[in-house]
Amino acid sequence: MSEFYDIGIIGGGIQGCGLAQAAAAAGYRTVVFEREALAQGTSSKSSKLIHGGLRYLESGQLGLVRQSLYERELLIRNAPQLVQHIPFYIPIYKQTSRRRWQLFVGLSLYAALGNFKPHACFRRVPPVEWADLDGLQTRDLQAVYQYWDAQTDDAKLTRAVMQSAQKLGASLLCPATVERIDYQSGEYYVAYAHGRTSGIARCVMLINAAGPWVDQVHSLIKPACEFPKIELVQGTHLLVRQMAPKGVYYVESPSDRRAVFVMPWYGQTLIGTTEQVYHGDPAQVQPTEHEVDYLRSIAHHYFPHLDNTLVQQFAGLRVLPKGEQSIFNRPRDTVVHIMPTLPGYVALIGGKLTGYRATAQKVLQMLKPGLRTRMPVADTRELKLEPVKGDAAIMTIK
Ligand SMILES: Cc1cc2nc3c(=O)[nH]c(=O)nc-3n(C[C@H](O)[C@H](O)[C@H](O)COP(=O)(O)OP(=O)(O)OC[C@H]3O[C@@H](n4cnc5c(N)ncnc54)[C@H](O)[C@@H]3O)c2cc1C
Repeated sequence: MSEFYDIGIIGGGIQGCGLAQAAAAAGYRTVVFEREALAQGTSSKSSKLIHGGLRYLESGQLGLVRQSLYERELLIRNAPQLVQHIPFYIPIYKQTSRRRWQLFVGLSLYAALGNFKPHACFRRVPPVEWADLDGLQTRDLQAVYQYWDAQTDDAKLTRAVMQSAQKLGASLLCPATVERIDYQSGEYYVAYAHGRTSGIARCVMLINAAGPWVDQVHSLIKPACEFPKIELVQGTHLLVRQMAPKGVYYVESPSDRRAVFVMPWYGQTLIGTTEQVYHGDPAQVQPTEHEVDYLRSIAHHYFPHLDNTLVQQFAGLRVLPKGEQSIFNRPRDTVVHIMPTLPGYVALIGGKLTGYRATAQKVLQMLKPGLRTRMPVADTRELKLEPVKGDAAIMTIK
């Protein structure tokens, strides 16, 4: 006998858990299949920022920035133990590629998109305060801007969202690896291995939220149908022994002008990230020696006295649709992929931690017409998120 669900979700990262919360809040019978543990994939390897994405303004992604700022404020209100405002500092040197006026314009637009709320505003840090900036290099320094964004613990946030989904009635099968999916007579039969046992779940709708494994999971579906080409982009972070700085420093790599963050993380300093195309098995992604040297040299350039003794290093994978543009300029919004030959099936490509709730609502709206009417039980904009009990782990990142 197979269990029956309105919506089956493959993947217990932030997207899968966010979808489970939205689906359960809308009253649907929902199940999440997670192969290892919640947030074991990219959702514990991010930069841990809940942010509007100031730099996305340069590529004209205004909608993404506006939505992210809105989601950031919702999270701060609903999950104060998990998401907190944090000051960001952008130093401008003689050599920095973005000029003071450009930053001023960008930050003004950011403030406008954030409706000029107190945490949308910015200021110029006067030179008398530069000595308090965690040993920031002041040679050739021309200005420092300070604005606000937010920080989270990505893995804890993911678990908290799933906890909220479960309270609303969603089921979690974990560890449960989806091994085969048959589409028959308008329903999806999802075969999974759960420890030593196995099972089959029957779902009216199926969401593939398997992150970097999205194409592998897609290939389990019978009848087979082609999946759009994707690219995996590796991003590495280093945790170093340096005492935590007072905020997030948004600096520019002197060698290739990319933006890199130097930020506090449980009392120490986290530096990231890199961006390089990855071709291997997603489960095997590791920081490379080149990435470690690159990040360390940037941190040393801006903080010459920083103790960069390595405490931890980790790499995560972004999923981007394959395209002509450089990986840096490709849109970072979630692509919701549907297939005419597989009604009720949705695959998610890419996206951000910050926008998980908005993405879930969008996907649910798309699926609703094919589902039976259910009585909503909650509005995700109002749901409070609390850390999972016993989830006091200070560093969950491997
Ligand atoms: C380096 C880096 C930094 C980032 N920084 C930020 C940031 O600061 N702020 C921000 O908003 N966004 C950030 N992002 C983006 C954000 O982290 C990701 O978009 C998000 O975590 C992706 O979540 P996901 O649920 O799609 O995938 P994942 O978290 O990877 O989840 C997919 C899950 O699917 C499971 N799975 C796979 N195959 C199967 C199967 N067969 N059966 C069952 N389960 C399966 C996996 O075990 C995994 O847990 C960053 C991304 C990267 C790479």
